[in-house]
Amino acid sequence: MARVAYANGIYGPVSAPLIPVEDRGYQFSDGVYEVCLAIDGALWDAAGHFARWRRSLSELSITPPMSEPAMRAVIREVLRRNRLKSALVYMQATRGVASREHVFPAFASPSFVVTVKPFDLKAADKKAAAGIALRSTPDLRWARVDIKSIGLLPNVLAKDAARDAGAGEAVLHDDGLVSEGGSTNIWMLDAGGVLSTPPTDGRILSGITRRTVMDCATELDIKVAERSFTLDEAKAAKEMFVTSATSQVTPAVQLDETVIADGVPGPIALGLRRAYIDRCRREAVAP
Ligand code: PMP
Repeated sequence: MARVAYANGIYGPVSAPLIPVEDRGYQFSDGVYEVCLAIDGALWDAAGHFARWRRSLSELSITPPMSEPAMRAVIREVLRRNRLKSALVYMQATRGVASREHVFPAFASPSFVVTVKPFDLKAADKKAAAGIALRSTPDLRWARVDIKSIGLLPNVLAKDAARDAGAGEAVLHDDGLVSEGGSTNIWMLDAGGVLSTPPTDGRILSGITRRTVMDCATELDIKVAERSFTLDEAKAAKEMFVTSATSQVTPAVQLDETVIADGVPGPIALGLRRAYIDRCRREAVAP
């Protein structure tokens, strides 16, 4: 069955030319996106993802393409047309279509696209049980990475280099100071049993999963510090893991050439994965 996308009022095959050539997303990366999980027909962490969506649009002065209830109806319909209950939901808005000029066009209505991809939570659990390797690479991004902009070239390069090195995720760093992953937030458990993740100081995207995992950790009486750490500190960690809607909580067992602790996923990471999934299931809402 051909995958079906939504684009500006039309449901059509993802391979169809649904977006005009002069869409500013295509020419300038002038747009924002969100990714969240639908599991068994319900959205995980939906409130956080919709709130960040609104914030990203507002930071770039892009008019919201439609209301949240209307977006939810589109998501529901795209899931239905693709006959999916468990999927990664991708939504994107750009400033719209206009003759190519850098400055904002006087008249343009935002473009809005939704696509979905099958997601298998059992397969993700399996990946988490094995743990992934991480590969560090300098953070080459712009100064507004707090906005979930579709301009992802540095992330693409970092993640592709990680893949080439046999790693599952890139760790971005500035002179050895870890910021975040190519598409995840990074966590480490230090020798003292404190869980650390870099602060939302403008050098990272404020992950929705990061926030929920922080709440789960607090519930489990695990001490959390929002603090920066170096690659060397991470290499000496008892545990490492990454978080994102796509990976939930996924343990990391290697950073560059260094095996983390004894090279298997740690109990804190696996416990938080369980707690995160349980909480999301409990709080999931139909689109
Ligand atoms: N950082 C970056 C750069 C990302 O692309 C993502 C994925 N959206 C994250 C962190 C994790 O964010 P979330 O938990 O909201 O998926």
